Amino acid sequence: MSFQMFDSPHHPKFVHFETTNKCNLQCSMCGNSSMVREHRLLNWDVFYKSICEISSWTIKPSILLHTIGEPLLHPLCPDMVRMIHAKNLHLHFYTNGTIHKTEVLIEILSDPQSVVTISLGLLSELEKEHRGCQISRLMNAHNWATLPGKLVVRGIIDDYKNNIDKSWHSLIEKAGALLELTQEGNQAGQNPRTKIPPVTGYNRKCRLPFTSLVVYADGSLGYCVIDFEASLSMKNPKDETLLEFWNGSMMSSVRQNHKKSHLIGSICEYCSCRHHNWKQFNSIYVPEKTV
Ligand code: SF4
Ligand code: SF4
Repeated sequence: MSFQMFDSPHHPKFVHFETTNKCNLQCSMCGNSSMVREHRLLNWDVFYKSICEISSWTIKPSILLHTIGEPLLHPLCPDMVRMIHAKNLHLHFYTNGTIHKTEVLIEILSDPQSVVTISLGLLSELEKEHRGCQISRLMNAHNWATLPGKLVVRGIIDDYKNNIDKSWHSLIEKAGALLELTQEGNQAGQNPRTKIPPVTGYNRKCRLPFTSLVVYADGSLGYCVIDFEASLSMKNPKDETLLEFWNGSMMSSVRQNHKKSHLIGSICEYCSCRHHNWKQFNSIYVPEKTV
């Protein structure tokens, strides 16, 4: 994968909305519990305006209602889902599966384009017991297999192999959900503030500035989905549209810095997240060439 292919990305491939940066859990590997940023809920007007704009684009991105927090904590989450469906956009919804708003998940999965991922993260012994009960409850709450959307349960591969109670697997299978196992590192817990040394062999240039637009809960814009303190986010003083921002001078400068690995002094310098891994990404993403 060469950066050349992303020189004029024109449209983001993914638009992430940070519905809220609040979470009801404190997973051991996640920086959410030590976040100093104020807890906020995304303003409805910002969301509404953004979705109206996105639905007018010639190339539509996937919409993700998640960055660092639990989207079901936003009281207007069901309305957001309805609006995304009404605009016929692809929705990928992430939840930790512990807030029992089954009716919202059913509504999301009633759309064949939509995906719900229940993310288990990296579980401590205590979390395993607690989350095991929650997952059982959720899996038994509905006949998920009858819905046209895709339900996925995502865990960490080593956790699963070594520790996870295998009875979870049969529950997940019985519910018609897919079990997806990932390497530790794709999770929100890869907090760049922890300054984990870069993992040898990774491409240090990150794909996110080329593919992913983030609308933070305070309405600022950015591109990093694991930026706990939103330190890479940018205010939008000129009230640019999302597409103007994406193709504007600030994002262009960020991309130049990533191309040249000029990352010193930013949280990217220490990030070991697998978003760096362009080889892995290449297998799941075919970039758009023209507008
Ligand atoms: S990993 Fe997800 S569910 Fe766990 S504390 Fe962080 S944001 Fe919340
Ligand atoms: S390098 Fe890390 S901190 Fe920087 S944009 Fe990519 S994922 Fe975020």
